[in-house]
Amino acid sequence: MTRSEELYRKAGELIPGGVNSPVRAFRSVGMDPRFIKRARGSRIWDVDENEYIDLIGSWGPMIMGHGNMDVLEAVQKAIWDGLSFGAATEKEGEIAELITSSIPSVEMIRMVNSGTEAVMSAIRLARGFTGRDKIIKFQGCYHGHSDSMLVKAGSGAMTQGTPDSAGVPVGVSQDTLTAQYNNLNSLEQLFEANKDNIAAVIVEPVAANMGVVLPEQGFLSGIKALCEKHGALLIFDEVITGFRLAFGGAQEYFGIEADIVTYGKIIGGGMPVGAYGGRKDIMKKVAPLGPVYQAGTLSGNPIAMAAGLAQLKYLRENDWFYGALKDKGDSFFKEVDDILNGKGIAHTLNHISSLGSIFFTDKAVRNYEDAKTSDTDMFASFFRHMLDHGVLMAPSQFEAIFLSGSHGEEELKAVLKAVNSFKQQ
Ligand SMILES: *Cc1c(COP(=O)(O)O)cnc(C)c1O
Repeated sequence: MTRSEELYRKAGELIPGGVNSPVRAFRSVGMDPRFIKRARGSRIWDVDENEYIDLIGSWGPMIMGHGNMDVLEAVQKAIWDGLSFGAATEKEGEIAELITSSIPSVEMIRMVNSGTEAVMSAIRLARGFTGRDKIIKFQGCYHGHSDSMLVKAGSGAMTQGTPDSAGVPVGVSQDTLTAQYNNLNSLEQLFEANKDNIAAVIVEPVAANMGVVLPEQGFLSGIKALCEKHGALLIFDEVITGFRLAFGGAQEYFGIEADIVTYGKIIGGGMPVGAYGGRKDIMKKVAPLGPVYQAGTLSGNPIAMAAGLAQLKYLRENDWFYGALKDKGDSFFKEVDDILNGKGIAHTLNHISSLGSIFFTDKAVRNYEDAKTSDTDMFASFFRHMLDHGVLMAPSQFEAIFLSGSHGEEELKAVLKAVNSFKQQ
């Protein structure tokens, strides 16, 4: 028995599924999870000392690779002053200034501890600000696991939300309506059917939780126009895209500003951090200034702020970073696409900059329905092949490949070589 198997067996007795987040369980690829011991740069090692090229990057945060010296040193320096005070600190002001001075739509920001918390708070704020209850999200977009966001569409776009998870009250899910990604008509219909009741539309400006699905030309600006027409707020969930597509995230990349923006993942440099921010008149509704309550014992934690600040400072100061990452992503994903084309394997490769997904389907993937046509058995065999050849991908067809600044030519060549030796079963 390997050490991973041993640890998994033990954990399975004590932790549901042996994991603290279901995506780590490898269930959809028919395997037991590998337990990780350490990581450096773009490489990661499991407890049996197997080495992999890491294409997960902790699901997004590690955009500079693992063990970045700036981040490690900042954390190491911070711990000696104390791990948590439950009181205001200088670093919270610093990170707020760094973000608000670089991202025009974010005039004020509040730090929380996860992307889930950021979205949950942003939704409450949108409702508090508009005095309306209903929220529109898009099918296949993930916004964390708070009750009102665990809803996808029923059969038609006009159906009321039904919960995705046991334990979500139907009453809560009824205020979450779902439209189809890249389909402005479906959004417009919901607005028409719920006049003066929509508090906000929330969207992943690049969907990355049904695999990577890009917004088509005019989709994001169309959402914004409909929100303005109907007096609803536009929430960009930039938990993945923030500080990844550009320092200013999808807002900067596509040149579109949202009313409220949520962050997570990269913002914490690998520590548990989330944030939501936006226009001043909206953010001023948050307690203690306003009536929308939101709090956190560990929010703005000094160690988490030190890590996040170090990572964000590096990303903002090195303005070549995002261009280089985009070039790397563009050429890497094109080569993957070429290799699979050469093999005659039916697939669709969606990518933007350092994010990409290989869908094993011959359909173009523009929304959740399309994504679901993928051959998940084929993905599972591809995943296992890559793992056997030293490449760790997210263990699901419906997740992204994340490249980082530390994926060098050597690592990417090794990944391409592994793709090249894949044989369709
Ligand atoms: C990961 C993610 C979340 C949830 O963040 P957590 O830190 O896991 O709670 C929310 N929205 C998007 C777009 C995400 O990718």
